[in-house]
Amino acid sequence: MSYGIDLWGNDNFFIEDGVVKINDNNKPSLLEITEKIRATDLKGPIILRFPSLIHKQIKTLYNSFQNAIKANHYQGKFRAVFPLKVNQYPQVIESILKYGQPYQYGLEAGSKAELIIAMAMTPIGSPITVNGFKDVELITTGFIAAQMGHNITLTIEGIGELMSIIDISKSTNLRIPNIGIRIRLHHRSEGYWSKSSGMDAKFGLTTPELFEAIDLLHKNDLFKYFTMLHFHVGSQIENIKPLKRALREVGNIYAELKMMGARNLTKINIGGGLAVEYSQHVSKRLINYSLDEFSSDVVFMLKEVMDHKGVEHPDIYTESGRFIVASHAVLVAPVLELFSQDYQEKLLQLKENNPPLLEELIKLNENLSIDNNIEYLHDALDHNESLLTLFDLGYIDLRDRANAEILVHQIIKKALYLSKDQEHPTPEFDNMQARLQERYLVNSSFFQSIPDYWGLKQHFPIMPLDKLDQKPLRAACLWDITCDSDGEISFDPDAPLFLHDVDLSNEDYFLAFFNIGAYQETLGMKHNLFEHPSECTIEFTKNDYKITHIKESSNMFSIIDSIGYDSAKIMTTLKNNIAFSHHVTEEDTSETLKTLEMFLYQNGYLRTTNQE
Ligand SMILES: *Cc1c(COP(=O)(O)O)cnc(C)c1O
Repeated sequence: MSYGIDLWGNDNFFIEDGVVKINDNNKPSLLEITEKIRATDLKGPIILRFPSLIHKQIKTLYNSFQNAIKANHYQGKFRAVFPLKVNQYPQVIESILKYGQPYQYGLEAGSKAELIIAMAMTPIGSPITVNGFKDVELITTGFIAAQMGHNITLTIEGIGELMSIIDISKSTNLRIPNIGIRIRLHHRSEGYWSKSSGMDAKFGLTTPELFEAIDLLHKNDLFKYFTMLHFHVGSQIENIKPLKRALREVGNIYAELKMMGARNLTKINIGGGLAVEYSQHVSKRLINYSLDEFSSDVVFMLKEVMDHKGVEHPDIYTESGRFIVASHAVLVAPVLELFSQDYQEKLLQLKENNPPLLEELIKLNENLSIDNNIEYLHDALDHNESLLTLFDLGYIDLRDRANAEILVHQIIKKALYLSKDQEHPTPEFDNMQARLQERYLVNSSFFQSIPDYWGLKQHFPIMPLDKLDQKPLRAACLWDITCDSDGEISFDPDAPLFLHDVDLSNEDYFLAFFNIGAYQETLGMKHNLFEHPSECTIEFTKNDYKITHIKESSNMFSIIDSIGYDSAKIMTTLKNNIAFSHHVTEEDTSETLKTLEMFLYQNGYLRTTNQE
């Protein structure tokens, strides 16, 4: 069972000896890494970061564009900035700037806080671009960045922003930053994130506004600062066709502007949008192009338009975010419970005289074999339906019902187990198996760790860390530990997730969620006050690796402080309540206090259920 790793794994991970390993250096397994971290008493879900995968994506992106530039005899350069909104965490940004240094990789900011990060982290000379809605304060901060010597471009999304730039340029002596213009394209992308483009898009100037902007730039002697034309068709472009149309459109606008005398306009910023494959099933593959096809389309299309109009080739800027960081982070979360574990055979309490259908179930359970498992499973499910109806009508009692539940689950388990050696069970059996989803309780909050699943039903590749040499028999559905019924991941019968039947009282079972490095971490919400999980970074050394930057998820004190309580005051109240409680000795009181205090210093996820 490969869990579609060939589809989404991009050679970053591989399966060997029943475990999933990272394809780098000494190729440790994710299980080994996880166990090392847990040995430090850090429990609960944990994000493993692999900066080497960010390095790989940066190199891959540059090589691909550089090859396309060479092959097309393109005269412009390729440059990239990383959009902070995709992942602002320091370990991520530091890795991007470290590995991006040979390429003068820059940052893109979309808010004040992001701009401050960009100004502090970007090396002087590397590009900073600023998109999104801007007030006077943000624009002034952009001027201050220019004053520091930053190579910064403020992309205006509307005429109002340009007016502010004009005002600030007159009222201060600060250096004037470069100005970019985002254009509203006629063509739009498809899918969830398509509202970034098209005539009704949230951002960008219409064609009449573009003329107005140019007029204003001229009148205020700022035209020479106009250096970049920007567009972004939307994130996760799964179909390349709309992008090609957008490129042709933007290329023509650029060429026209050049012919209108925009001397310092030398850059086209194509935004982000390079997609990531999240699918685990070939039939559900999301992306219909390769990176090389993408880069060669961009370069070829722009060259064609420019050559046609006799305009010099612009430098190409990209703001790919998802493509750069999605793969670097893996969430590992322990499974806490399997729903049907409660249905143990030893809990059966059969009566002297059982209802006839229950007797039938007993026989099915005893006589189930490889030759009849499908038929018996069928019968058992039918009997179960009937028994539940009989219960509703008052013909059988609660004890009978408990016995029926146990027997049916035993039969399901055994039938599935027997089927594992059958190469080709009937399609009907496959179907039935996929419907009989076992519920796995996962020590994690899906609202916090994969909010795009909650918000957009976007699936992430999921697989267990071990047992990959054993056929998994249980079609799974996953529950998180929030007490919200939306904290559940279910799978269509045509794209099921099969997991192993494990006895969690004897062993650990971890699930890994892949490609979670883009958007999820700051989009995640604190539902039930589950915070950003613990995280650590895996750095490869010569023939080994080390685990660095271990940061445990917030403890109870900081969680309650973060929403406005005063944790010191709360602690005092709790202490007083314990101290004044009746019937306890002083010794007991201090013991209780110690216990409570210890709990409050732990992170908010579960620790003690089963192995935790
Ligand atoms: C969000 C965003 C990006 C990043 O898009 P990805 O799909 O993550 O590559 C780039 N540019 C702009 C303007 C954005 O808003």
